[in-house]
Amino acid sequence: MTEVLTSEANSAEPVPFIDLKAQYQTIRDEIDQAVHRVFESQGFILGDEVSGFETETARYCDSLAAVGCASGSDALLLALLGLDLGPGDEVITSPFTFFATAGAICRAGATPIFADILPDTFNIDPQAIENAVTPKTRALMPVHLFGQCADMDPIWRTATQHGVTIIEDACQAIGATYHGRMAGVLGRVGCFSCFPTKNLGAAGDAGFITTDDRELASRMARLRVHGDSGGYSHHEVGFNSRLDSLQAAVLRVKLAFLDEWSDARRENAAHYRGLFSQYELEDVITLPQEVPELRHIYNQFSVRVHDNRRDEVLQSLRADQIGCTIYYPQPLHLQACFAGLGGQAGQFPESEKAAAEVLALPIYAELPLSHQERVVHGIAVALGREKATGPVTYSFDMPDSRAA
Ligand SMILES: *Cc1c(COP(=O)(O)O)cnc(C)c1O
Repeated sequence: MTEVLTSEANSAEPVPFIDLKAQYQTIRDEIDQAVHRVFESQGFILGDEVSGFETETARYCDSLAAVGCASGSDALLLALLGLDLGPGDEVITSPFTFFATAGAICRAGATPIFADILPDTFNIDPQAIENAVTPKTRALMPVHLFGQCADMDPIWRTATQHGVTIIEDACQAIGATYHGRMAGVLGRVGCFSCFPTKNLGAAGDAGFITTDDRELASRMARLRVHGDSGGYSHHEVGFNSRLDSLQAAVLRVKLAFLDEWSDARRENAAHYRGLFSQYELEDVITLPQEVPELRHIYNQFSVRVHDNRRDEVLQSLRADQIGCTIYYPQPLHLQACFAGLGGQAGQFPESEKAAAEVLALPIYAELPLSHQERVVHGIAVALGREKATGPVTYSFDMPDSRAA
């Protein structure tokens, strides 16, 4: 029997993990005009662009206030400092996240206390949080990993019971919702990153903070300018973490398209589900779980590869010029810089297992279906399953492609 290669999935066209140029093509004129506008004004620091972005982003996130800052990492740090967290205070968070989550806690002088994740969502386990609470606990910092909100209901209960505050690491989750409520207003304060690969990506580093607490908002706005309350009057020491006006201008353009882009990511996720089910890889690949009533915005589409075959699949895809990557290969409790916290291998088994199994696939809004077919086909090839289904033909009603 001859293999008939009917699909582009079998072509050798490289599949990038993310293609920022494809997005730029679609909004080139608006971005160029926004950049031009800032250059014409020569107003590069704060001003109307930043306050305009703050107003628009607060409206988008359904918060009373938003404060622009230099990065998502600084958003976390400003939130911690704004809430007076520091030496002697414990902040409970996930060990399966980007480094900055725990890095910010340490930079504030506080101590990160890790609580393991739930295997289905990769998000922090509320019961593990409850178990980690001590008299020194001052805040909980759930991370809405990959763009889906953590299970906030029991987290709220724990926070209330112990009188501690919630800081959301919503860096990957702009526009995600939890039972209809926006990420960023699910705690006292929400921290966002506009790193270029986030759903709302700047032309460089940028971030912002959301809160319904106006007093806290003005304190964080003051901390980002060295604690200057105006007229070089410093009542506390802050640092420089302003959002560049250029970045604000770029982000204001992009904010208008954000929901469209996130919906396209959600559609791509649905395509992957259709493709994977066609290839019948369920025994080796687990797809990311979408929790009912939560809007997942798919900053990442991370699958699990079982049977210790993740690295093999990764290498095979890369050899085939298919972009994929690992978020995150090492949980934070095992990072050398946190050795002082006493983390041990085996301490957070779900996080360690996830780190060994996850593989993030391309999911950006402009990703062509032919690329998605190539990704899934590539995974099937890597796992020695490509013959099982024959040539790839994918459509929404998923006809049985093996019938012929
Ligand atoms: C991106 C990210 C950050 C840090 O954001 P930067 O803008 O890169 O500083 C923090 N936490 C999480 C979960 C992130 O994904």
